[in-house]
Amino acid sequence: MSGLFAEARKRLKAAAKHLEVDPDVLEKLKYPKETLAASLMVRMDDGSRRSFKAWRCRYDDTRGPTKGGIRYHPQVNIDEVMALAFWMTFKCAVANLPFGGAKGGVSVNPRQLSKAEIERLSRAYVQAFASFIGPDRDIPAPDVYTNQMIMGWMANEYGAMVGHPTPAVITGKPLVLGGSLGREDATGRGGYYVLRLLEKELGVSPEKTRVVLQGFGNVGYHCARLLHEAGFRIIGLSDSTSAIYDSDGIDPVAAMEHKRKTGALAGASTNGKTVEMSNAELLESECDLLIPAALENQITGENADNIKAPLILELANGPTTPDADAILDRKGVTVVPDILANAGGVTVSYFEWVQNKSGYYWTLEEVQSRLRQFLEPEATRVWQLKQDKGIDMRTAAYVHGLDRIAQAVAAHGTKAYFSS
Ligand code: NAD
Repeated sequence: MSGLFAEARKRLKAAAKHLEVDPDVLEKLKYPKETLAASLMVRMDDGSRRSFKAWRCRYDDTRGPTKGGIRYHPQVNIDEVMALAFWMTFKCAVANLPFGGAKGGVSVNPRQLSKAEIERLSRAYVQAFASFIGPDRDIPAPDVYTNQMIMGWMANEYGAMVGHPTPAVITGKPLVLGGSLGREDATGRGGYYVLRLLEKELGVSPEKTRVVLQGFGNVGYHCARLLHEAGFRIIGLSDSTSAIYDSDGIDPVAAMEHKRKTGALAGASTNGKTVEMSNAELLESECDLLIPAALENQITGENADNIKAPLILELANGPTTPDADAILDRKGVTVVPDILANAGGVTVSYFEWVQNKSGYYWTLEEVQSRLRQFLEPEATRVWQLKQDKGIDMRTAAYVHGLDRIAQAVAAHGTKAYFSS
């Protein structure tokens, strides 16, 4: 088997070497529990109908209902959806949320659709997967090129199908439709918290750490904003259209304003010294902290050797391939892995689900302080495991997640139990 899912599963093998795991556990995690494919028929504005391929994968629900975003992207495919669902399973375990992992996707370029077409596509997704998802079964959320409004349409469609509003079926909704305060910036904020919680161990400080960030979207923007507010110097930013570099520092808020006005980062110069470069060049540029916050497979066997940053904070899912990991490890680069660094999003999604279920809503301060409380022990534990076992942070995070999943599987009895 090749592809992203096969690459993702290599992480499990690597972690299993450092933990005594019953073979039943590894057997259970070998394949997704269930994956559904559908063709979404959508009426276009010109009156024609188009079909879009769509998937939802529930990887493992041993620890609770499954949870994971829905991605709209032209390159989405079943292999990627399964890999993302696998990562979610471990991320929920690392963050100690009572959830298993899932993911969904539609193969579509949303930029080529009108707003009304995107609404019809989103409602069609829920119609196709209504029996697969559910507030106690599988709870979607936003991912690349899906947003609050889309989550609102989806929750509304699900409510119409089951006959009553069911906000807990989806997280990342608009605030007025049962969303949570603090969800919008939760992933970027979670990454920021993890970095600050481990700043001594990682050797970072606002005064000396210069940051390059790839993928100036929802997650990337908020993390850059928080870092900038804390005094870190953001010297490089990119999105799918352009990359900018300025060793004097870029104000991410002004850069986002520019991007909103013009549709691109190019030209978002704050002091006239900004250099434009390719995305590949930006990844390899001089900095102290590199934050990939776009898509998977950005740091690979091809470019890992050229990465100059001594520290990488993975806000995107799967930005570093296993062969790149080996090279980075050899070079002494520390990688704070996605399943820890970007777990803030699903953690606040969990808070949203809890609030929807209880019908009682929290203040922003409560959300943010609980997010920190959730991430702190996990970040500390991952660092401890890394030190104790002499392994890299990614393997440590997988060991931590696998341990929790293994305990849940073992609670139903394993071969060792039944044969004794
Ligand atoms: P988004 O659509 O808001 O932003 C993605 C950004 O990446 C956009 O600015 C886009 O232009 C840019 N981009 C795309 N291809 C690029 C390329 N080749 N080079 C540079 N930039 C590129 O999506 P998001 O929600 O911010 O998600 C970003 C990443 O974070 C994804 O990997 C996603 O799976 C992961 N993530 C998101 C959340 C969440 O809560 N949204 C949670 C956990 C992980």
